Amino acid sequence: MQNFDVNKIRQDFPILSKMVNGKTLVYFDNAATTQKPLPVIEKLIHYYTNLNSNVHRGVHYLSEAVSKEYEDTRKLIQNFIYARSPNEIIFTRGTTESINLVASSYGRTNIKEGDEVLITHMEHHSNIVPWQLLCEEKGAKLKVVPITDDGELMLSEYDKLINEKTKFVSVVHISNSLGTVNPIKKIIEKAHRYNIPVLVDAAQSIQHSNINVQELDCDFLAFSGHKIYGPTGIGILYGKKELLEKMPPYQGGGDMILSVTFEKTLFNTIPYKFEAGTPHIAGVLGLSEAIKYIQEIGIENIASYESEVLKYATEAISEIKEVKIIGTAKEKSSILSFVIDGIHPHDIGTFLDRDGVAIRTGHHCTEPIMRRFNVPATSRASFAFYNLKEEVDVFVKSLRNVIKLFS
Ligand code: PLP
Repeated sequence: MQNFDVNKIRQDFPILSKMVNGKTLVYFDNAATTQKPLPVIEKLIHYYTNLNSNVHRGVHYLSEAVSKEYEDTRKLIQNFIYARSPNEIIFTRGTTESINLVASSYGRTNIKEGDEVLITHMEHHSNIVPWQLLCEEKGAKLKVVPITDDGELMLSEYDKLINEKTKFVSVVHISNSLGTVNPIKKIIEKAHRYNIPVLVDAAQSIQHSNINVQELDCDFLAFSGHKIYGPTGIGILYGKKELLEKMPPYQGGGDMILSVTFEKTLFNTIPYKFEAGTPHIAGVLGLSEAIKYIQEIGIENIASYESEVLKYATEAISEIKEVKIIGTAKEKSSILSFVIDGIHPHDIGTFLDRDGVAIRTGHHCTEPIMRRFNVPATSRASFAFYNLKEEVDVFVKSLRNVIKLFS
């Protein structure tokens, strides 16, 4: 790995040297949200100190300066995910809003009674509920691709489920509770043979892998800023221009219009048609710094270091006979979910917290997966490129102590 110095990187994340319960914080809850490097934090301060004003509305210095940074960020994201045009990049509140936008705008226009929407058994609630609401409203059917005991998609079942009634496929790239990396290119290719558009939920993949929307040929892609080292409350929807142009607005308000009379409103062009109201300007500027920061480190370096940490952690907890890993797919990324017979995940999380180790316990907004594996919840450690193997050692030692305590 060229120029990858994890100890130097850690100095950019002030929170990592925080003491929690008398111990140095070990932050293994990165799938829930990532920590922020100094350039992101400093940008937020800079914005509110020097630039604060509204975008696209003023002719004064501040508004013009911030509007330029706002639109430059759109271009940065266009280049980051290899979109054809900045107009294909829509600022939203996060993955959840991006998916709701598509379900509501594209879905309501194109899905009718008797149609089918295809998702998978490993979706986050954000990629289940919007489609469920749509299907209920329209009298359409939600179909679900099953998964194996290892947590891999059953592609042969996908092949059987997809048919002329299928009008949309929405699929997660990397599962937030199993860590499975799905073969989305194959899934997209197959759907396109039937002319079915595909949305990729990239909430857990954008920070770990190189995403090229043109190469994938996905029709929509959604991700959240806070999972890629940026601020909360900002996210992205990528959509192919020809689809976005035909879709009706998602919300009405300022900025999304060309002209308004009481009789009729003419809508703005994309992407503004989908950006009603004052946006999260600070969030956009912070996200820009986050993306520049990870580009500087290199997403390939990040992916390769994180896979080393995952391998190290997987091997270490596999040696504990009481631990059962949930999600053992061949292709995994940065997420280690597990259960221990006789100890509730919440107890594991609470005891680990005493040692300063932050993991997540619960259903991770994927209740159908918990039911599939017949567990009420799991404990989940999720890694980022600033984590250390030494931190994995602290986590494993603490886990062994919890097991001792409960036995
Ligand atoms: N999809 C996946 C796979 C996720 O992991 C998450 C968040 O954990 C979401 C969607 C929702 O993201 P947000 O809450 O940022 O909108």
